[in-house]
Amino acid sequence: MHPPKHIPLRRCASCASQAPKRDLLRIVRTPDGALLLDARGKAAGRGAYLCKKPACWDFALKKDRLARAVKAELAPAQRAALLQALRLHAVEVAA
Ligand SMILES: [Zn+2]
Repeated sequence: MHPPKHIPLRRCASCASQAPKRDLLRIVRTPDGALLLDARGKAAGRGAYLCKKPACWDFALKKDRLARAVKAELAPAQRAALLQALRLHAVEVAA
C-alpha cells in the first residue's frame, strides 16, 4: 500500500512530448557556451532534454530549438559536433 512512486518527467525540446527523465537525453550548455551531450545526466549547467529519436535531434538542431532551450548560439560546427555525439551515443546504446 505505497503511493505511486514519483517519476520525474521532462519535456523534449524538439517534439515537446513528456517522458521520464531517464528515457531522454540531456544536453548541457558548458560555461563557454558549447553544447554537450550529458550522457550521465549529472553535468552542471543549463540543460535541455531530447528524445532518443534521431528525428528529434535533427529537428531540434535544424530549427535551433535546442539552442533556444538553453539560450545558446550554436555555430554550424558545434551543431555538427553535437549531432555526431548524439549519433555515436545511439550506436553505443544499441550495441
Ligand atoms: Zn522528441
